[in-house]
Amino acid sequence: MKAQMIDGKLIAQGIKGELKNKVEVLKRQGITPGLAVILVGENAASQVYVSNKKKACEYVGIKSFSYELPAETSEKEVLDLVETLNQDANVHGILVQLPIPKHMDEQKVILKIDPAKDVDGFHPQNVGALSIGLKGLVSCTPAGVIELLKRSHIEIQGSHCVVVGRSNIVGKPVSLLLLREHATVTICHSRTKDLEGVLKQADIVIAAVGIPKFIKGSMLKSNAVVIDVGINRDENGKLCGDVDFESCVNIASHITPVPGGVGPMTIAMLMHNCVLAATTQEGATN
Ligand code: NDP
Repeated sequence: MKAQMIDGKLIAQGIKGELKNKVEVLKRQGITPGLAVILVGENAASQVYVSNKKKACEYVGIKSFSYELPAETSEKEVLDLVETLNQDANVHGILVQLPIPKHMDEQKVILKIDPAKDVDGFHPQNVGALSIGLKGLVSCTPAGVIELLKRSHIEIQGSHCVVVGRSNIVGKPVSLLLLREHATVTICHSRTKDLEGVLKQADIVIAAVGIPKFIKGSMLKSNAVVIDVGINRDENGKLCGDVDFESCVNIASHITPVPGGVGPMTIAMLMHNCVLAATTQEGATN
């Protein structure tokens, strides 16, 4: 094995520790950050994510408000709840766990969230702010990727970053963040011609494809840094990423494992966004 492992669990723990200290400072100013999590329906994976988010809140000192609604809840009821939470001064962050049931319009629900409380960073106002370099809440997984690179002392500026995937929740925002960090960014997707040829030029590869073990070692330039955003199950039902870890670990200089890479960073950055939202809304010093 050649590559150095990027330990997302450890880095995320460090971030949560820093946030815990910040929350103590806020509490001394009479401010307790609050996160409201809305879960509609009984998606097993979503229930695990929500429970992990609650645990992280508890650790950091954020008060969590939980709304677990049945699948048949109407869109109006969800929109009304979001509006109530928008007005609630104890709630600084609102998260609607996606996916929501099909009878609801996801975009309508996201649009209803006050952008200042949009800790997932999915509201068009926050997405727009990111694209033109204004302050705003940045979505958690992409922000986590940048933190992983920075805290592993990997030079982003001037590097050629190849992002595989162009989704609104990972590929596009991570590309914008890399650009903001002065990388040269190439975005690939399912219509890209000669993906391998593009990947061979990458100093940093960000894989957000959603296909198990899609990126092979033979596609990489020697010493490339590989960040695997993917969360999939392999043929044996075992958790795996979008990167074929076994073949890439001998070519890459740094690599993230799955699990234990990007995943824990997503929650740490959610906590970061909650603390940031509370600090901004309360005009606190931190
Ligand atoms: P999407 O399915 O929304 O997007 C996948 C992207 O990959 C699309 O842009 C698609 O291209 C591209 N793609 C598909 N096939 C190919 C191909 N053969 N060659 C090149 N590009 C291809 O996925 P997400 O962005 O939502 O998620 C990506 C992965 O990240 C998933 O495994 C998901 O589970 C994981 N994830 C992990 C998170 C975490 O916390 N760690 C959070 C969010 C997601 P096109 O646009 O042309 O269709």
